[in-house]
Amino acid sequence: MGIDLITRREWKARAPKGAYTPISSTRGVKVHYTGGKVPADLADPGNHHKCVELVRGFQNHHMDGNGWLDLAYSMVACPHRKVFEGRGPGRLTAANGAGLNSQHYSVLALVGSSGLTHPNDGVLHGVLDAIDYLRDHGRAGKEIKGHRDGFSTDCPGGPLYEWVRRGAPRPGGSAPARPATPKPTPAKPKPSGGWPGRYLAYKPDAMMTGEDVAAWQRILKRNHHTIDVDGKFGRMTRAATVVLQREHGEVPDGIVGPRTWALG
Ligand SMILES: [Zn+2]
Ligand SMILES: [Zn+2]
Repeated sequence: MGIDLITRREWKARAPKGAYTPISSTRGVKVHYTGGKVPADLADPGNHHKCVELVRGFQNHHMDGNGWLDLAYSMVACPHRKVFEGRGPGRLTAANGAGLNSQHYSVLALVGSSGLTHPNDGVLHGVLDAIDYLRDHGRAGKEIKGHRDGFSTDCPGGPLYEWVRRGAPRPGGSAPARPATPKPTPAKPKPSGGWPGRYLAYKPDAMMTGEDVAAWQRILKRNHHTIDVDGKFGRMTRAATVVLQREHGEVPDGIVGPRTWALG
């Protein structure tokens, strides 16, 4: 399946306020998230119109609020596996931070720090479709990195960054994307079994509970963390998770995905 591209004309982009800086190639692409609240139901099949509203809002904010000539990003991927044309290939992005824009294009995934925080398969495919497009049309190199690589920011958020660090694999496929980062060390077989399939995290407004949380707490306990196995992912569970991640030199975001699960 190829890219499902939404051209600037189709999303009714405003014309840029000035001339783009041309670039002939990059080392690769950096992945971003919105950093703010994204509607929790954005990925619902009937809600793509909300994606269009978000992208148009970002463009207005970048042009009117920040005074930039256009939306900062090269491309934007949404949970419906559609890709918005931003500045596009062959043009300097403004999203990566001063001094870092000529080295990588930028792709925004419509995932936020609240509301919709975890990328679904559609948005991951969309990011990869955008990257393929930037490689084909803008000579993007093979690197796939996160905004936080080389720049002080939380972007692209824990769950999306973990996917980037795993080499940005296509969901559902066994063939990994062209590798961007060192391969994770293979997990030792665990008596507790593998990662249960949902990201576990501390959510003050909607506490995560369940057998998978309890299983993770038993893993923490086995790793000498003082913790109650109550099946509720509270502050103590997050704190112990952060410590475990630090001990292994992993990103201490307190979120339990497959990579963190394999540490236990
Ligand atoms: Zn970013
Ligand atoms: Zn959409």
